Amino acid sequence: MENCIFCKIVAGEIPCYKIFENEKILAFLDINPAVPGHVLVIPKKHFTDIFEIDDQYLQELIVVAKRIAEKMKTNFDAGGVNLFQSNGENAEQTVFHFHLHLLPRKGNDRINFSELLVNAEKIDNMKLEEIKKILGE
Ligand code: 5GP
Ligand code: ZN
Repeated sequence: MENCIFCKIVAGEIPCYKIFENEKILAFLDINPAVPGHVLVIPKKHFTDIFEIDDQYLQELIVVAKRIAEKMKTNFDAGGVNLFQSNGENAEQTVFHFHLHLLPRKGNDRINFSELLVNAEKIDNMKLEEIKKILGE
């Protein structure tokens, strides 16, 4: 895809610190890491987001992510690992080529994921039932 930074990384037109590569998947260090060891896992084929990505790619990608997460946990002095992924401008996606973030976490790092939940609104049961109807099977 023209003008996509991550497609350019896949094509070798922009350098990266490569962590893993196979036929479908590439993993590399984030250029602006939230913590040391911040990794991005991407499909080599261009898909904008979770809504576009082919299931086969997604399945391979999550297994690659699991292997890297295991390495982070056992070899990188990380007590834990966060995986997160953004879709669309409202979700604060900035690079529109699907990517999964992997963050190796130490107890005393500066990231605070639980902040995401701090301002959660109270929702009454009727609303919860309504949402369940929309999102449930
Ligand atoms: P998003 O905000 O879309 O979830 O994440 C995009 C991520 O891509 C950011 O964490 C940003 O630092 C990273 N990024 C943007 N451009 C480049 C680049 O050219 N090389 C690498 N390695 N990472 C990039
Ligand atoms: Zn792309």
